[in-house]
Order: sequence, then structure tokens, then C-alpha cells
Amino acid sequence: MFCRTIGHKNDDYNAFLEINEGSAHERAEAIDKKIENGEKVGKLAGLVIGIKSNINVEDFHITAASKTLENYLGSYDATVVKRIKQEDGIIIGMTNMDEFAAGSSTETSYFGHTENPAAPGRIPGGSSGGSAVAVAAEMCDLSIGSDTGGSIRNPASHCGVVGFKPTYGVVSRQGLLDLAMSFDQIGPFSRDVSGAALLMDVIGGYDETECTSVKWDSPKFTDQLGQNSLEGTSLGVVKQFFDVSDDKIVNIVEESIDKMKDMGAEVHELSFDYIDLCLPTYYLINYVEFFSATRKYDGRKYGERIEEVCGEEVLRRIYMGSYISQKEFSGKYYKKALQARSLIKREVNKLLQNVDVIVGPTVPMLPHKIGTSLEPMDMYSYDVLTVIANLAGIPAGSMKAGEVNGIPVGIQIQGKPFEDSKILGIMSALD
Ligand code: GLN
Repeated sequence: MFCRTIGHKNDDYNAFLEINEGSAHERAEAIDKKIENGEKVGKLAGLVIGIKSNINVEDFHITAASKTLENYLGSYDATVVKRIKQEDGIIIGMTNMDEFAAGSSTETSYFGHTENPAAPGRIPGGSSGGSAVAVAAEMCDLSIGSDTGGSIRNPASHCGVVGFKPTYGVVSRQGLLDLAMSFDQIGPFSRDVSGAALLMDVIGGYDETECTSVKWDSPKFTDQLGQNSLEGTSLGVVKQFFDVSDDKIVNIVEESIDKMKDMGAEVHELSFDYIDLCLPTYYLINYVEFFSATRKYDGRKYGERIEEVCGEEVLRRIYMGSYISQKEFSGKYYKKALQARSLIKREVNKLLQNVDVIVGPTVPMLPHKIGTSLEPMDMYSYDVLTVIANLAGIPAGSMKAGEVNGIPVGIQIQGKPFEDSKILGIMSALD
């Protein structure tokens, strides 16, 4: 029954590229049996979960929404998927996305765009648009996305749901198809903050099979939920994050900040002089790392040769990455970008020294109408406020702050490395 509803909704939204009703039913029955027999069930028992199509799930098609991997069937479970299954989560299918996660609109999928149920006719954001919509349209309870420069927080903002990008290294990337591996993080989507925190409790934590996974004494991500006061919490408000944003978005986010003040939070004005450096730095590094990650799609092991079948944006990144990676240019571009990244990281950490979190808009613009033709730089400018957390490796969440003419607007909360549960706690106060 539930699956039939998902199928119908998917005809309207194209949030899923693959739905496996059969295996979901089997899992649900197995969990029911456990309950009947009085056996202990996992933290996600009975919850239906969608997975972005760039994360390996055994026996599902892991296409990254590209023709390149059209027939590629997952032969193993990524660490996050293993953990979800261990906790009795029911994986219902694979969600739509921008091709290879390179985008902010979910319009570049080889399998067609995804519709935004919260703002009909407009993009759902991206690249994890399918995962955001799956949750927003109640096609599943929770979903998983990946965030390299905003791909969880951006669609969460445009679809009016919760999205969370953990501190780099807190969630294992094992089994994720890289976009830019030094930025990529897997994270949750949900309709309320407690759902995201619950999923973090399951997928977070050290993974010895993955080299960027961090060994730390991870708290429970659900520990600080349910706050109804923000007494003693200091919020940083960065002037430049508001200067670059649409006035209507600024108004909505300011209302949320006022609400937080009413709950006892203190506000500190901050200034970040490097905002213009963030997009060029992010995209240069993204191009180089993506170029290197795509060399394995040469047509021998994984079907098609990527350059022959991919879309325009993926091709742009491959060509640019190959150009920048040439020895004679590395000092001119890549090394400079790495230096700029260190500078940005240092400055962001300085900003966070005297406050608990930084609050501001998630995305500076409202989502455009599907099919509007945008120049690459205009598409990239959606990301100016989200790439900062990836450049600095810090945790950041987005949740709905309000609406402009019915279109959802998100507020972003960014915090110090490894203070993921503090952010989730503060978000829960606003929920
Ligand atoms: N829009 C950004 C990009 O195209 C971010 C993508 C992402 O986070 N996967 O690179």
C-alpha cells in the first residue's frame, strides 16, 4: 500500500530513480517477525529510507544519475547503508540527483529533473534534490544525501525540510562515489530535527575501513535535542552572509534569529572578509579532484566512457580539471586554491572562537523555475553560503525558517568541528 503511494507520487515528482517494493516488504516482514517473537529491534525499525544514487547499496542501480553508470549494479553496501540495515531501517530505493552530484538544481540528471512539491514548477535544489523531495513529499521517513558544497543543505532549504552536513570525517564516505573527496560528506534529510539526529546516531562514528574517518569520542547526536531555551547560547551573525542574499530571504531569516533571541540567545555581529574567495577556491579544487575521480570511468570496468556520454556540466569539470592539473599550471591555480582554502578555514575557525554557532541564510536566492537557462556562474552562485562549511570542514545544518510567496526559505546553522550535536540541539529549539 505504502509502496503504491510512493509509486504514484514518483510519477509526479521523479524523486526516485529506483524503488524496490519487494525487498522493502521482505525487510518489513522480517522486522514484524522479530517484534512478534519478542526480539529486540534496531533504532530505525520500520522507518523507510531513501538513498542518494551515488552511494552503494547491494542490488540497486548506483548510477549517480549518469548514463555512464546506467547499468551499474551495486555489489556491496556502503558503511552508512550497512549501519542503516543493522538498525532495521528499510531501504526503499535510490533517489535522483544532479549527474555525479555536480550541480545545485537536480536538473542535470540523465533520468530527468525532480519536481519540488513545496514550490511547484521550481527546482528542488541539488544535488541531492531527490532525497530532499522524497522526505518533503512523505514518500519515505528519512533519506541520505551527500554534501560537497551544499548538496544536502541547499535542497533542504528549497524544499522546506531538515538537512545536515556533518563535520568532515564524522560519517564514513566508504561506498560513496566521489565528487571532490576532500569535501564530500554523507548526511541525513528528515522532516524534523530529531529524525536527522536519529539517523546521525546510526551512520556517524569511526569506520576503520575508511581513511578520512576520524576516531573520536562521538557523543550521541540526539543528546541535546528538545531544548526550549537558548539561554547562554551565543549566535554569530556574519554581515556579508546577509549582504549577498535576497532581501526577502534576509527578512525571513532575521525573524528566526529574533525568535532565537526571544528564547534567550545572544547575538554577536561578525565580519568575514573572504566571502568573494570562497566560490573560486571551492570550484577550482572541485574541478581538480573530480577530474581525478572520473579517470576510472574509461569504459573498461564501468560501462561507458564518461566523456562520451556525460552532460555539459560534468564535461566542463573534467576539461577544466584536466587543464588546471597540468604541471605548468599547478602553481598558478591549484596551489593558490589550496592556500586560499587554508586561509578561509583559519578565518572561519576564528569567527567561531567567540560564539557557539553562526546563523544565517542557507541559500542566497530563491529557487528558479525549472528549465530556466542559467550561466554556469549563476548556477554556482547558489552555493556561496554553503561551500564555506565544506572548505572549513565544519558541521552545518539547514531547516525551514519560513516562506516567501509559498516558497520555503532555510536558515543555516554552522558550528565548530565536532560540535555536530550542539548544532542539532540548537536547531531542535527552533523546530
Ligand atoms: N553545487 C555544488 C557543486 O556543484 C555542490 C554540489 C554538492 O554538494 N554535491 O559542486
